[in-house]
Amino acid sequence: MEESDFYGISGMKETVCLSHITDGVLRDALGEVADQFECSFCQRTSGRSEEPFAVAMDELGSRVWDVVTWLY
Ligand SMILES: [Zn+2]
Repeated sequence: MEESDFYGISGMKETVCLSHITDGVLRDALGEVADQFECSFCQRTSGRSEEPFAVAMDELGSRVWDVVTWLY
């Protein structure tokens, strides 16, 4: 089994750039926890010497829930 197959099944290993997140409140919240160096959507990557620019999707999911429950 390929590593990518495992990730597809789990659905929790994907990462996303902060720049894909258009909601300012959500992006600020995620900026504090960004610790990823690659994006599953645009294939962007960076070296470990740079600032992390992406967050894990499970992190995004929990923050979306926090923001939604706070706003409404
Ligand atoms: Zn990206």
